[in-house]
Amino acid sequence: MEQKFTYDMFLSDVKSNQKQILDEGIVKVKGAKIYNYIKDDVSINSSSRPTASDQYTIAINSGVLLAIFDYSNDVIRPFYKLYHSQLNVTEELFVRFVCGVMADFIFWHELSHIIRGHFDYLGIYQSEKPLSFNLSKLGESRVAELDADIYGASLLFLRVLNVINSGSIRPEDALCSYTVGLRSIFEILHNDNELEDLTHHEAEHPHSQARAFNAFSFGVTSPDAIRYSQDKMPYYQACAEQYFLDFERLALGNKFNIEAVSDIMPIDVSQWLSEKEKLDTLSRISDETRTFAERLKSNVRYIKNWLRRVRS
Ligand SMILES: [Zn+2]
Repeated sequence: MEQKFTYDMFLSDVKSNQKQILDEGIVKVKGAKIYNYIKDDVSINSSSRPTASDQYTIAINSGVLLAIFDYSNDVIRPFYKLYHSQLNVTEELFVRFVCGVMADFIFWHELSHIIRGHFDYLGIYQSEKPLSFNLSKLGESRVAELDADIYGASLLFLRVLNVINSGSIRPEDALCSYTVGLRSIFEILHNDNELEDLTHHEAEHPHSQARAFNAFSFGVTSPDAIRYSQDKMPYYQACAEQYFLDFERLALGNKFNIEAVSDIMPIDVSQWLSEKEKLDTLSRISDETRTFAERLKSNVRYIKNWLRRVRS
């Protein structure tokens, strides 16, 4: 019988995924190194911050990981039971992939704050003044959060396309896991914020459900994703959209806050578009190519995984 996916397995997946992203040069930051750790704190929160002139630190609270794992038992497993005829993966594999997407998205979101230069944009370096004069502090914060969601979702989607291209999973199963994971992580944030429906207009983050819709839409349509798999993208996008709608209906009971998505989100998105050029100039993504050692690490990992699959 297949081994049950446990919290310890989840924790080890989370650590190895984060290590891969940072150690294999998948993302590089100009002139700085990024450190990461799991913080022993039960609140559902994560952070990224500059910790020295040449370093940043990302902390993911254990509360986020516990909430993801609980959610997988409460929502993802029942969804799988309703939906497995559409899928070709076991329940354990599906839950594991979805949990990985949720935790990785949190990490990519924090990483995006760093690589997109949000600390400069928001004037968080004490010696510097905010660079934006058009928007209020609140407006800037919502723009930065939206930008981190969009880049986080796009970069994560590229990773999923990589998994699909490796041939280790059917594209449909990977796309369903990605969509369900991305939608779910925002539902966890929404559930943790009881008054969100009343307070979201004035909050630093847009409404969680609007963020989910936004991250999903921009994630699967990003230019990098389209360039990566041009011929297959229309089919992949259509699959992902169907999974989004099916999950909303079957698992979440169509409780989407339509007002937050249709009335407020266009305002946030148009502010993001008007600030995008400025954000692009602040980007800290390094265009250095990956070093020999970084590529070697990726190849060794790939071969080890392949051998493990062949043996089992
Ligand atoms: Zn953020």
